[in-house]
Amino acid sequence: MLAYLDHHATTPCDAAVLAAMEPWWRQHFANPSSRQYRPGLEAAAAVEQARGRVAAALAMPPESVVFTSGATEASNLALKGVAEAALERGDPRRGLVTLATEHRAVLDPLAWLARHGFPLTVLPVEPDGLVDPARLEAALGADTLLVSVMAANNEIGVLQPLETIGALCRARGIHFHCDAAQAVGQIPLEPAGLGIDLLSLSGHKLYGPKGIGALVVAEGVHLAPQMHGGGQEGGRRAGTLAVPLIVGLGAAIQGAMADRDSRAERLSGLRERLWHDLEVLGGISRNGHAGRCLPHNLNVTVGGVDGGELHRRLRRRIAVSSGSACSQGSPSHVLAALGRSREEAAASIRFGLGRETSAAEIETAVAAVAETLAEIRRPA
Ligand SMILES: *Cc1c(COP(=O)(O)O)cnc(C)c1O
Repeated sequence: MLAYLDHHATTPCDAAVLAAMEPWWRQHFANPSSRQYRPGLEAAAAVEQARGRVAAALAMPPESVVFTSGATEASNLALKGVAEAALERGDPRRGLVTLATEHRAVLDPLAWLARHGFPLTVLPVEPDGLVDPARLEAALGADTLLVSVMAANNEIGVLQPLETIGALCRARGIHFHCDAAQAVGQIPLEPAGLGIDLLSLSGHKLYGPKGIGALVVAEGVHLAPQMHGGGQEGGRRAGTLAVPLIVGLGAAIQGAMADRDSRAERLSGLRERLWHDLEVLGGISRNGHAGRCLPHNLNVTVGGVDGGELHRRLRRRIAVSSGSACSQGSPSHVLAALGRSREEAAASIRFGLGRETSAAEIETAVAAVAETLAEIRRPA
């Protein structure tokens, strides 16, 4: 069987999560907005229990949680919602600031806003993938409305200095949005202490179902809804609530918090073993800051091989990628931002370990890379 080492693309839905969701499809199918009868009230109670679990995982109040279809929608709501709310209340600020290594779910809505009168500054990162806080500070001005910086990168796993960025934003009254799809349930993260006003998360990145996520909004942040209709979620996101998926997100985040630290410790051990065994093959270098990094991520560039050939051979034995699952075909903009050439980016491997990753799968991965290199590496 193929060793699945692509947990940044998605994670399997946990069996306990699936079991928690099951009754809410057929047995308890009522609409949680139908509060005039008992089944509707029960569905509403299940939604509120899940909301409480998401909120608790982030040490935020339940009313801060807005359920969405995922992190993409959450980030669209955060970015466009803040921009439109500024227009509505006559706030003259228009400037948006982000990093070159952000996910497309942030870069694309920001680029859309830039075409609609909100000037966008895309900052470069250092060769280790981290933003230099002094560079970010220099980009902030009287016109800056919002800064969007992710918690953990989905390709190279680096952890941005959120606390420093949050303090810079807070001192200037600038909104701080954080795409935390890769961080929630993986590493400790408390938005209030970090100065984060808006945080996006996704169910399927933390052993929950696909098609559900949330935007967590600090008190006092004004958001113009981007989905208009029935007024659900306090008017912030219309549409009938996806009760089974919401219950699944609640169960998944609770489960992810329960084993977060032990999982991180085990997977960082496996990740270091993987890196050590790859490093001895020679000509392989690591991408991103090795210390400030998700415990289950390893991203490497393999020298002296054709990337296409490398991945064609690897994919018979391991499920890995050369970049984000969302930008298949085009070379990684993240690796490009680190100074990697097109060829180097193509000859890069992103490993994402997960809850069920075994030591045997790591051995399979090392063997697959070693044997592939023996077959295709050009003499130095
Ligand atoms: C997966 C991912 C997203 C998109 O999340 P969806 O829930 O699939 O929309 C956004 N940002 C990052 C960093 C991700 O890893």
